[in-house]
Amino acid sequence: MLCLPRLPSPKVIVEPSHACGSGMSACASRILCARSDVQFSAHRLARERRSLAGTFDPTKSTRLEDRLAARSSAIGIAWSITGTTDAVGRPALAIEVSGLVPLECQRCLQPLEWTVDQKTVVALAGSEDEADALDAESDGEVVLAAGPLDPLELVEDELLLTLPYAPTHPEGECTAPLIQASVQAP
Ligand SMILES: [Zn+2]
Repeated sequence: MLCLPRLPSPKVIVEPSHACGSGMSACASRILCARSDVQFSAHRLARERRSLAGTFDPTKSTRLEDRLAARSSAIGIAWSITGTTDAVGRPALAIEVSGLVPLECQRCLQPLEWTVDQKTVVALAGSEDEADALDAESDGEVVLAAGPLDPLELVEDELLLTLPYAPTHPEGECTAPLIQASVQAP
């Protein structure tokens, strides 16, 4: 169970329109914009079964930069957010992220390309109380969507949850000699 509360953002667009210049209704059917700096109504997206999509560069994210290999050049992670319902019919978002993320192997400290291919369905809560209730009764993720949401924040959250804290190359592909941990018996 995981609740992801959203901090209110200073930029709230009352009539959502997408960065591509289309209105939300035209854009939300299938948008592929290079950037997405708008907020959207998650409940409306769920109700209308529409989707948002774009690419996201984690090297530009202050929340993700610590997790990436140093001096990463720009990368593009494909994302989409689709309005849907969860297993019991409540409004939800299906969040998909996929791409290669440059991480650093924690054994040899050499670059490591980590494949992300994640699809998560998050239930929508209209209030803190509803978020608590949903959280208590389901194993899935719950997102507080009392107001407009920033799609890239949702994508960032998914990446933060899916990226390993201590990634290592697969056995046999790591250049580091095995480090002998010296464990002293008390
Ligand atoms: Zn390694």
